Amino acid sequence: MQRMNVECPFCEIGIVETMFTPSIRREKKESFGRGHTKSVITYSKERYDVVGNCPHCGEKARKIQRKLNNPSEMTSRKNMLKRLKKAGLPTRI
Ligand SMILES: [Zn+2]
Repeated sequence: MQRMNVECPFCEIGIVETMFTPSIRREKKESFGRGHTKSVITYSKERYDVVGNCPHCGEKARKIQRKLNNPSEMTSRKNMLKRLKKAGLPTRI
């Protein structure tokens, strides 16, 4: 774990203090029979633990942490629009 200051994902101005756990490399041996083994390398997910609220917009540490750990959530709105388009629903009113 290491201390890291990151930009607040909500206002992109405030700097929040986090404890950052980098992804950990793991090696796993997989057997394919007949003595064949292959080492498979996997990475654990990196993770942020936000220490304090955003000093700029005042967003709560818990919410910032959730957003930092789930960056895909940021694009979920876009994905929703795409899905609506695919379903043939009008996106323009
Ligand atoms: Zn902020």
